[in-house]
Amino acid sequence: MRSFNLSENEMNELCRRHETPFLVVSVAKVEENYRFLRAHLPHAGVYYAMKANPAPAILRRLAALGSKFDVASAGEIEALAREGVAGDRMIYANPVKDARGLRAAAKYGVRRMTFDDASEIGKIAQAVPGASVLVRIAVHNSRALVDLNTKFGARPEDALPLLLAAKRAGLRPVGICFHVGSQSLSVAAYEEALLFVHGLFAEAKAAGLTLTDLDIGGGFPVPDAAGLAVDVAAMLTAIDRQIVRLFPETAVYCEPGRFLPGTAVNLVASVIGTKDRAGHPWYILDEGIYGAFSGMMYDHWHYPLHTFGRGGRVRATFAGPSCDGIDVLYEDFLTPRLTVGDHVLATDIGAYTTVSATQFNGFALAPTYTYEEEFPAAQAETEPRAAAR
Ligand SMILES: *Cc1c(COP(=O)(O)O)cnc(C)c1O
Repeated sequence: MRSFNLSENEMNELCRRHETPFLVVSVAKVEENYRFLRAHLPHAGVYYAMKANPAPAILRRLAALGSKFDVASAGEIEALAREGVAGDRMIYANPVKDARGLRAAAKYGVRRMTFDDASEIGKIAQAVPGASVLVRIAVHNSRALVDLNTKFGARPEDALPLLLAAKRAGLRPVGICFHVGSQSLSVAAYEEALLFVHGLFAEAKAAGLTLTDLDIGGGFPVPDAAGLAVDVAAMLTAIDRQIVRLFPETAVYCEPGRFLPGTAVNLVASVIGTKDRAGHPWYILDEGIYGAFSGMMYDHWHYPLHTFGRGGRVRATFAGPSCDGIDVLYEDFLTPRLTVGDHVLATDIGAYTTVSATQFNGFALAPTYTYEEEFPAAQAETEPRAAAR
């Protein structure tokens, strides 16, 4: 699949309309990613983990496509409510919920939630009596970029006792969930987790508890700057096959985060200053590690950078605008020589980027524009990525 990629002309046109830095999301690309997921994983419903990118245009398009949403806080529930999404299309998938979040869940009718400890049961039962709950179990996966199984997940042997305790508290224990970790490059992690949970379902049944729901979490990968050495279509197909084989009667759903917006957003920034360090150029951009490039820090990510111009290439360093020495983005990056006012483009920068941007040093947050609104007549331009077919 191709990533959304502004052409140089489009980038320059946008720079005439808007001051940099800014991001551009292609909602058509988000839709394409959603349809790709539905096509290759047809037996799992979709709850978009909106923490990856809650831009209203993305929420709106996914809501229109019939997606449901994974929420973690009052703020996320309220953002969806503003877009007209009803609470029964949300799962409150933060295993530890705060009082505000639980109040919002009660107010907007979010009645499906996850938990991974007994201390959560009384809180849920009090705020949302009779809520449907899934116990989150920890699963093993060494091939994920972001580990989500140290902080999260009950010990598997505690799953059944936790569900039974939830039942005694008046909740509806409906199922089990897991998350193999973000940017998982392993399909085996899903397959092993599915096999393991299949056993837990049988144990539950033997204990008189019929489970109806299975939530396989997110983790589906997108290409990074080095490309993507995994066939995502084959990965999803293998997961789907295992679902059909093991859980033919179960309501199965997934919670993709980065997969939906990751490849659908570009960042446009400008060179605001240059330095010459013994012949080695430094280019200072108007967006940095404290802005939308924050994913380089929090998400351990590296975004493809595109520069434009003629002439021989040099190895340059690119840095952000803040007064912090860690605000360095790219080193030894081959580029034509640039000057103040030149624009640069970063692609595949749609997940875990704007959400962790700060206003450190007083630099404003970069806004997100929608490609299809900016260029109503155009089809989203996508460019082949060598490793992400
Ligand atoms: C973050 C998160 C997701 C999304 O994860 P991705 O790896 O971005 O797909 C899904 N479910 C839960 C509970 C999460 O915390």
